[in-house]
Amino acid sequence: MTAGTDNLFMTDPASVLPPASLDWALFLDFDGTLAPLARHPDAVAVQPSLIHSLRGLSKSLDGAVAVVSGRPISQIDRFLAPLRLAVAGKHGLESRLPSGEIVTPVAAHPGLQRVKARLADIVACDPRLLLEDKVHTVALHYRQAPEREDECDRLVHQVVDSMDGGLQVLHGKMVLEVKPVGSNKGVAISRLMEEPVFAGRRPVFAGDDVTDEDGFAAVNALGGISIRVGPAQATAARYCMADVDAFASWLAGAEAALAHLAVERKGTGT
Ligand SMILES: [Mg+2]
Repeated sequence: MTAGTDNLFMTDPASVLPPASLDWALFLDFDGTLAPLARHPDAVAVQPSLIHSLRGLSKSLDGAVAVVSGRPISQIDRFLAPLRLAVAGKHGLESRLPSGEIVTPVAAHPGLQRVKARLADIVACDPRLLLEDKVHTVALHYRQAPEREDECDRLVHQVVDSMDGGLQVLHGKMVLEVKPVGSNKGVAISRLMEEPVFAGRRPVFAGDDVTDEDGFAAVNALGGISIRVGPAQATAARYCMADVDAFASWLAGAEAALAHLAVERKGTGT
């Protein structure tokens, strides 16, 4: 379920984030937050400096760093290799806990196969459209045919509405994703916060898209820090960053500050 519009407001760009703290639990969206969006989902590039920041943050926060993405865990691992963080993938439908345990649904929604078949017919007529089968969800990318946005939106909703229920459409940037109802990034973050590595910490979540609004609302409710990456727009996030580069710089600064604090903590034995 997407955060209600009555919860959204324009974040003041001048709002300054509180200093990084060793009691944080960091939850990070991937596309558009850690890495710039690309024309094709496979063409995304990750800066080596980002891997360095994430590794350091995970060390200082005793493993309380997780990627929360619409992508499958396997793709996140490939982009961040050799780093393997906790991940909530497919909008929370699958998770890798800090212990390494993988939690996935037993079976895909029974209606999803029919949705995939119907969308495959639509994509077959236009090579600029891309259908991404993530097993438990399916995504229609129209980044290379942006003028077909309204049409794609209408077609995907028609397909989902013709099913028996239990499925919903997520609107991302140039992508429409069909997934089972009940899973979203807010639920995923709340579940991870119950894991021993994250429990008792202050959640910090950064994301860039409509699909991240549930995550912002969840960390706000938990007394955490919500950060939206990208141009100003109505959002539940309390803080904002201009773009991926600005966020990467902030992340690097947080990594350095926390590494320093972790050394101090070790020295004092607290
Ligand atoms: Mg994103």
